[in-house]
This record gives sequence, C-alpha cells and structure tokens, in this order.
Amino acid sequence: MKPNVAAAKAELSHLEIDENPATVRNKSRDFFWYSPVLKAEMDHLEADFVVNPKSEAEVIEVLKTCYKHDVPVTCRGGGTGNYGQAIPLAGGCVMHLTGMNKIKEIGAGYVVAEPGIIIKEMDAELKEKSGQELRMFPSTYSQASLGGFIAGGSGGIGSANWGALRDLGNIDRLRVITMEAEPRALEFTGEELHRVSHAYGTNGIITEIEMPLAPAYEWVEMFVRFDTFRKATEFAGQLTAEPGILIKLASVYAAPIAHKYFQRVKKYVTDQDHLCGVMVAPQSMAAFQTLLNRYEGGEVIYRSDNLEWDRHPGPVYEYGWNHTTLRALKFQKDLTYLQVRYGDDIEKIMTAYETFKDDLYMHLEVMREGAGISFAGLPIVFPKDKSELDDLVAKHEVMDCMIFNPHRYTLEEGGRQSTDKRQLDFKREADPKGLLNPGKMISWDEPDFDYADMYSYVKILPKPAP
Ligand code: FAD
Repeated sequence: MKPNVAAAKAELSHLEIDENPATVRNKSRDFFWYSPVLKAEMDHLEADFVVNPKSEAEVIEVLKTCYKHDVPVTCRGGGTGNYGQAIPLAGGCVMHLTGMNKIKEIGAGYVVAEPGIIIKEMDAELKEKSGQELRMFPSTYSQASLGGFIAGGSGGIGSANWGALRDLGNIDRLRVITMEAEPRALEFTGEELHRVSHAYGTNGIITEIEMPLAPAYEWVEMFVRFDTFRKATEFAGQLTAEPGILIKLASVYAAPIAHKYFQRVKKYVTDQDHLCGVMVAPQSMAAFQTLLNRYEGGEVIYRSDNLEWDRHPGPVYEYGWNHTTLRALKFQKDLTYLQVRYGDDIEKIMTAYETFKDDLYMHLEVMREGAGISFAGLPIVFPKDKSELDDLVAKHEVMDCMIFNPHRYTLEEGGRQSTDKRQLDFKREADPKGLLNPGKMISWDEPDFDYADMYSYVKILPKPAP
C-alpha cells in the first residue's frame, strides 16, 4: 500500500494545514538532537504536511482520511520529547494538537482537559480557578503539552511525592481515537490506561484527559550544599522518604556539575560542592530544616522566598530532570546522558559513583515508589563515540543498573527492553494498517525480535530521494 499523500491533503484542505517547508521541517522535529546518536540517525526525517486540528471531530476526520489513503500519522504536542518520539520516520502527516488546548471541567481533585494544552498554562488556570495544581510535570513545563507528557513522558517534578506518571492513580481517564475506516472513540480507565500511556501515539490518539489534582502551594525552591556526594544523596533520599514532609522535587548534582554548568549558581559554590535542588511546601519548612540539621555541613544557599542573590537563578525545577544535561550542553557540546534505575540501593549508587568517576558526573532524581523510594540516575557522560556509549551502557547493566536508553527511538529500547503486550494488542485492534507513528514499536514490525540483540537494532531511516 503506497501512501497517497496528495489525495489525503486535498481531502483535508478545509482544515488548517501547514505546507511551508520551514514549518513542516520544524514540526517534524523534537528534542531528538539531545542525543548525538539520534541526531546522526534522524536529522533528515520530515513529514509531507502538517495538519492542526481544533477539535476531536477534526482529529477523527484526519485519521479517517489518512487511513483511506494509507498515509502515516505522527502526533505532536509541544515537540519536547528527547527520544525522537514525535519524529515521523515514514513521512506522511504530522498532526499537531496544540490547538486543542481547553480545560473542560475542574472538580475537587480532578481536571478534564484537551491534550494539546501546555502544562504550565493549565496549572496557572487551575490555580487561579480552584487553588489546585497538577500532581507532577516534566521539567519542560513551559513548553510540553499534557497529551505529550502522557504519551511520551514518564514523571518529573512531583514524582518525589506521587511516584511515576504510570503508577496507579496518577492518570484517571483517557479518551482515545482509533485509526480505522471508521475511527472509534474509546474511554479507558484502570488497567486499560496502560494500553496508550507512554505508547508514543503508536496505537491511538488521546483527545481528552482526566487527571488527579493536588492542592496548590507556593513551593519553596532551594539549593542545598553538601561536602560529600554520599551526604547529599542520603539527605535527598531521607527527605523523600519522610512521610510528614511535603516535597515536590529532590535532585542531587554531584560536584562539579553546579560549579561548571549552572551559570547563576557558580558564584556560590566551588567545584568540590555537591548540591541538592529541592521544592518544599511552606508548611513543611520547619520539619525540612530539622531534618537538614541532622546532616552535618548541609547548608541552604538559595531559597526562592528569600532571595539574597543578586541575580534570580530561575525555577529550581529547570535545573533538574533532563534540564541538568540541557544546561551542561550549553557549555560543552561533547557530552550527553544516560537514564539509570538504581532502585533504593544507595550502596549501588556509591559503587557506580566510584566505578565511573572518570566517565561521568552523577545526577540523581529521587522518586516515591510504592511504600518506599527509588533513585533515578541521569548522569552526564562524555563518550567519544557510539561504541563508547554502548560500552558504558553495558557496564551499567553488568552492575544490575537498568538503563532506559535515551539514545534509541523505539518504545522498547528506551523503556523496559521488552514487548508491552497490552500496547501491541491494542495496536492490532486500533491501527490495523500500522499507520500511527510507524517504526517506533519493534514488536509490531518484528514480533519475534530478541531483546538480547537489542543494541543491534537500527532499522529505519533511508534518506529520502532528493
Ligand atoms: P511531544 O514531544 O510532542 O510528543 C511526545 C510523544 O507523544 C510523541 O510520540 C507523540 O507522537 C505523542 N503524542 C503527543 N500528543 C499525543 C496525543 N494527544 N495522543 C497520542 N500521542 C501523542 N520527560 C519527563 O517525563 N519528565 C521530565 O522531567 C522531562 N524533562 C525534560 C527536559 C528536557 C530538557 C527535555 C528536552 C525533555 C524532557 N522530557 C521529560 C521529555 C518531554 O519533554 C516530556 O515527556 C514532555 O511531557 C513531552 O510533551 P510534548 O507535548 O512536548 O510531547
């Protein structure tokens, strides 16, 4: 089946379509360049056209028309995904959803919204109208859409209290449109949510989202300095574990990250200082200080509610999660990062810190996990080439440090390194022609793929004919 792009475009011409080559190129790209490996593999990829639906009815029309003409559809929200999630591997149509940006309902503890709403704008409206806020958001808060977070993200600021986005109770309901001759609208709750959350839009388009909310606070954002990495890590872990202290962020930046890459912080730290970035609810500040007093030498050097620095450092959450590497990249081009799961094992982190001290700078984010906590590592690394990077990945895995590889564009390689049967089964049902974001789900293209050979999987991406 050869796509008939011209016919699809002609039939959709009454909708808002972008054909300007510069716009099409822009909207075919996300933060894939964040990875030097993906940059080399994906830079040339482009859609044939972009359509900007304003309602669910228009989404259905796009899917129905593209289905009829065998045209691939890749969905886009804010375009901040850094695994190349929103890049159309097979050309076709990019469906850009930021025109679907309304809050439909706000209630006690929940909100119903359209998928293209920008999370920061949504939170501002929620706070103004109801004194509530979203439980968690990515550090790309000011650019990312709610739908893109659910389909492409995993957690972030708020996970220190609420866990990961896919943990039970962190998404209430999703409304999803299938890509068939007659697209269906399905409502998912409970176990069904896992079919489409973090599925990169490969098996349905989310058109309505119900999310749980929490009371909004004037979070006190702080940087806390420590003289050892162990102390900074133990403090961040204990702060997250304390059930009575309400926090939204607990990041750890090993020396010399803060001194070397945090421009507005540099003046206040040395290259030997380890830093925590934290967000604490105002009513928990006394307990926070009590806990900090138990860690000799731990010192608050910045607080957002009492600015003593001559220049505002900006939001502390824009130093955490993937923003740490983004800041480092501004100073040094030849670096990148890994995503590592350490669980709650601080000794494993310390062993990795010692083992890799010549290869990486440690950066941790602490999350709630079940009744306990878990450390996610986003270390900054300096590989000379792809094979050195793969080597570092392999060394981590030997130490039982699981890698979510941010240098891969498929769901499986960037995730749990196995087929998600719920997502695959739903794709069979909802996208029988395999037209939704093609190439991102290995198990669709190669059901017998052996994940032991994972690092040999580079399948796509022929350069388009000139
Ligand atoms: P996009 O990039 O537009 O899309 C992401 C994926 O979702 C794509 O596969 C797209 O096809 C699909 N999609 C979008 N909308 C829909 C829809 N309505 N239905 C179905 N599929 C859809 N991620 C985190 O989880 N936590 C972080 O803290 C975090 N920090 C980041 C920091 C930096 C500097 C960068 C570059 C990235 C970071 N990310 C983080 C990744 C990304 O920013 C977030 O996941 C963000 O929420 C993605 O939202 P978006 O609107 O930009 O999605």
